[in-house]
Amino acid sequence: MSCVLVLLETRDGQVRPTSLEALGAARDLADSSSGTVHALAVEEADLDLVALGSAGADHVHACGAEAHSADGSAATAASLARELDASVVLLAATIRGRDLLGRIAAKLDSGFAADCIEIQASDSGLECLRPVYGGKAQLRVRVTGQVAAASLRPNHFNPADRDAEALLVQASASEGSAKVLGIHAGAGDRPDVAEATIVVSGGRGLESADNWHILEDLADALPGAALGASRAVVDAGWRPHGEQVGQTGKTVSPELYFAVGISGAIQHLAGMSSSKVIVAINKDPDAPIFGHATYGIVGEASEVVPALAAEIRKVLE
Ligand SMILES: Cc1cc2nc3c(=O)[nH]c(=O)nc-3n(C[C@H](O)[C@H](O)[C@H](O)COP(=O)(O)OP(=O)(O)OC[C@H]3O[C@@H](n4cnc5c(N)ncnc54)[C@H](O)[C@@H]3O)c2cc1C
Repeated sequence: MSCVLVLLETRDGQVRPTSLEALGAARDLADSSSGTVHALAVEEADLDLVALGSAGADHVHACGAEAHSADGSAATAASLARELDASVVLLAATIRGRDLLGRIAAKLDSGFAADCIEIQASDSGLECLRPVYGGKAQLRVRVTGQVAAASLRPNHFNPADRDAEALLVQASASEGSAKVLGIHAGAGDRPDVAEATIVVSGGRGLESADNWHILEDLADALPGAALGASRAVVDAGWRPHGEQVGQTGKTVSPELYFAVGISGAIQHLAGMSSSKVIVAINKDPDAPIFGHATYGIVGEASEVVPALAAEIRKVLE
């Protein structure tokens, strides 16, 4: 893999952690054949060349464009990939990444693999492992041809840890046919549920939106924790759709996932079953979620969650 290009995703001018993970994966691919890693930041962002170099980038191409449309970003990435003769293009498997991956592959006339949890170079292309059927099976995919594109599931790759500073290269962005007029952030300052290493999710078992404060308190006790929700509570209007985990919501793979008052429907499991440790809290000992949990607590959410938060605070103090 002589040249690997990583499309950086930025938010509020900051490179998102998942893009640093993609740089680490790119570094491993490039190192297997003494190749180089190029990062592309289409939108204007605070680019810390030491942090990006440490994570794996040799060169950072900065376009400094204003909030950019997906077709413009895809055209910019494809044009740079051609210019560099890149053999692999990587990006994060986020909502934005889902929008971009197919567009980039189409422009490069390449194959692609989405939502990968492992990638490696092989003699005949890029080999990827990706979960399918809601995590019930894993598919090994080989993308052959001159160039391969892949998106990487958050929390499955690590940024490199090098003593290196990336070189800045000024670049220009292709015009998109659509123009982004504004981006309105949702309220709250918690991390995105798809990227957090700890997720505290609630379901219909919480019984009312007014009871969410117990989950917020548990999340507050755990540094960096995000809030998640089942579709039932999102449909009920208790929580915003941005927090929904599952088949029609976000896919998460944190180190620690709390499922509180969530039954464990297949569509919910599709979004969280690759979490490393799953703690289920449910008053029904036969709830299906216990079949997937690392630890299960049978009890009333209103009693178990505050007690757990208090104990965690004692331990972390
Ligand atoms: C096409 C399609 C896509 C879907 N996509 C998604 C998706 O993306 N994400 C998703 O989550 N769902 C999705 N669903 C819905 C899914 O099938 C379930 O209906 C939903 O996940 C159920 O949510 P829940 O677990 O919160 O509620 P329920 O199934 O009603 O479960 C509530 C649980 O809370 C427990 N409980 C009740 N009271 C308490 C208490 N006081 N203390 C502790 N536990 C208590 C109950 O024992 C029960 O296990 C989808 C469905 C379809 C058809």
